Amino acid sequence: MASRFGFQSSTMIVTNTPGADLALTNFAYCSPSDLHNFAVPGTKLFLALVADSFVLSLSPHENIRTGQIALNAIQRRHARVSSGDTISVRRFIPPEDYNLALLTLELEFVKKGTRNEQIDAVILANQLRKRFSKQVMTSGQKVTFEYHGNNYIFTVTQAAVEGREDSKDAERGMISSDTYIVFEASNSSGIKIVNQREAASSNIFRQKEFNLQSLGIGGLGAEFADIFRRAFASRVFPPHVTSKLGIKHVKGMLLYGPPGTGKTLMARQIGKMLNGREPKIVNGPEVLSKFVGETEKNVRDLFADAENDQRTNGDQSDLHVIIFDEIDAICKSRGSTRDGTGVHDSIVNQLLTKIDGVESLNNVLLIGMTNRKDLLDEALLRPGRLEVQVEISLPDENGRLQILQIHTNKMKENSFLSPDVNLQELAARTKNYSGAELEGVVKSAVSFALNRQLSLDDLTKPVDEESIKVTMDDFLHALHD
Ligand code: ADP
Repeated sequence: MASRFGFQSSTMIVTNTPGADLALTNFAYCSPSDLHNFAVPGTKLFLALVADSFVLSLSPHENIRTGQIALNAIQRRHARVSSGDTISVRRFIPPEDYNLALLTLELEFVKKGTRNEQIDAVILANQLRKRFSKQVMTSGQKVTFEYHGNNYIFTVTQAAVEGREDSKDAERGMISSDTYIVFEASNSSGIKIVNQREAASSNIFRQKEFNLQSLGIGGLGAEFADIFRRAFASRVFPPHVTSKLGIKHVKGMLLYGPPGTGKTLMARQIGKMLNGREPKIVNGPEVLSKFVGETEKNVRDLFADAENDQRTNGDQSDLHVIIFDEIDAICKSRGSTRDGTGVHDSIVNQLLTKIDGVESLNNVLLIGMTNRKDLLDEALLRPGRLEVQVEISLPDENGRLQILQIHTNKMKENSFLSPDVNLQELAARTKNYSGAELEGVVKSAVSFALNRQLSLDDLTKPVDEESIKVTMDDFLHALHD
């Protein structure tokens, strides 16, 4: 197959590894003249997708002839090939944002008798991350690793890329310094893995902030890290890992704070990250049907899909993320409403019954949102219900800057943003503005700019798009509007 880097052939002949077998299974040799075929542009990496099944790093070796690739015994077994076979080998260019969030390795055995029957997960994880930095791992792949005279052989049982919509099934990604590695020992290995919990906290769990700007969310990195630790982790890691790590499974969370601060943005993103599709969003006042009795039915219907799924698919059931906006509309403290009908009480009861019933399901995550946490029925906030509560407050200056950047990004790309626009200054001047209000400022600055343009020209003439610029004055105008 031809490529713009002149790589003509995607087939190579398998040969044995020269000299001693490579201890590291993620590396293979080719001839010095073939090496450039595998260069990843803009990096020092040479990566090859071998037999369409796994990705190896290539190094040059003088003893390998052009058109040959040297694979060691484990690699040959994995690719189901023998020396002399012709196989497909293609340059592999990693997609963007390809770093692994999680890598689960099952330890099969340790070659060379080790007298130490314990493995310290923290130490081993650090070594692996260093040694395999920027290497691509594929689920099912075997990895050998030499450390302190021992040869460890692992199978990759899970490789999950952070932020991928399909992260649940992403089967390959690159090891980075942030990859969280979980070790599992197979029963036959006779090895005990210690310090696993610390391994967990040494990585994502210690992360204080996430960068969410690329997801269109400004200034909420710390809140997201908090949510991740307290509610998200139990969904990202497989159940047998969460139980080992002592991560608690959370069924519900509450995002609360002033309107327009990004609660819906955040909840949507969480939903998408967790199951790869748009979450179901319902709105309190909508559910609150004016017909008595209907609301309870609406509440029951919300959970119906998850219940059916669980009934049919058991443990294999999908995760159902239900986002409940303005949850206070239907979950006001019982007895607090003055309509005397007890309607609210029975709705709250219905919702509580459903959430409690979900205990055995484990396939529902309910995210409630409200501007008025104080109005909510206490019972809803108890453990096992919306137990993780995260306040989403007004953005600080840095958050405001990020939000302004997000909402002016398109303009900037299309050169509609005048170079004199100082977002930093605007961020400083917009204390107490919410994300939604900042978005409003950007929109109104744009309309000032358009009006200026239209009043200058004759309305019958077509507008010269090139000449429209949103200036700092437009923004200042918008602030004082
Ligand atoms: P809430 O649910 O807290 O009332 P939303 O998430 O619905 O607020 O925010 C409304 C709109 O305001 C969003 O669609 C977005 O355009 C903008 N916005 C609010 N907060 C942020 C933020 N933190 N980052 C980027 N945009 C934001």
